[in-house]
Amino acid sequence: MSFNHNLKVGQVLTNPQVGELFKSTIYMGMRRSLETNTLVLVSDHTKLYEDRWEGNIFHYTGMGKKGDQSLSFHQNKTLAESDTNGVDVYLFEVLRPNEYIFMGQVLLAGEPYQEEQFDEDKNLRKVWVFPLKLADGKKPIKLPKKLIEAKEKEREKLARKLTYEELEARAKYASKKAVSRTVTSNNFERNPFVTEYAKRWANGICQLCERPAPFKNKKGEPHLHTHHIKWLANGGEDSIYNTVAICPNCHDRMHILDSESDVIQLKEKVKKHFRMQTISL
Ligand SMILES: [Zn+2]
Ligand SMILES: [Zn+2]
Repeated sequence: MSFNHNLKVGQVLTNPQVGELFKSTIYMGMRRSLETNTLVLVSDHTKLYEDRWEGNIFHYTGMGKKGDQSLSFHQNKTLAESDTNGVDVYLFEVLRPNEYIFMGQVLLAGEPYQEEQFDEDKNLRKVWVFPLKLADGKKPIKLPKKLIEAKEKEREKLARKLTYEELEARAKYASKKAVSRTVTSNNFERNPFVTEYAKRWANGICQLCERPAPFKNKKGEPHLHTHHIKWLANGGEDSIYNTVAICPNCHDRMHILDSESDVIQLKEKVKKHFRMQTISL
């Protein structure tokens, strides 16, 4: 009989809540509970582990923090035998500190295999990786794109702390397979008339740096990007009063810096062009 947990996929718990629910320790990645006959797997992406989704298969790194991992070691053995030992296995992913996202019950999707990863002492060692799939043929839930981006930022922060040699070694031994996961995102459809108007108005000149577009496309049109002064993601409107055409370089600048003075400069352009006293975007 399966453990009755009443969790919904995508539900977010704190670490103590996970421990309380499954009656397990809260201190490891693999948590065996005899009381609920479960094995809880925690994949903490805020740490430098290499767990990853490849389509519908989750590649989970086993336990053992130093040296080569062994398949007969503690919960590695439990997981490796989970086809036949009757233990229910559940997966949580952590993308932001202390937010444990319930992904569902998982099953082995194939034989565990070995790969090289770094241990705590930054030595390359052999780990066991368990390919897992969700039970009942379910597909992984789509997580918000923002959350994935937050995770990537965290991992970039970790990467920045490594020395050049450490970074080179990690980059060399990283899985070469592209990590893929389905995410939800808000795709805004843009009004093509607004876009086209902004480009015609700019007439091949970037409206921020006022230099000509860096190149022409195959049709001979100057290559400019349209940009919303107040971002659509922040509630900006898709109107000609909020849309400018700028060069790719300035577009990056707007999305990376979004500086007050650049925004004012673009707003002034719009005001002057439409002979407006004020604009509210
Ligand atoms: Zn420019
Ligand atoms: Zn933009």
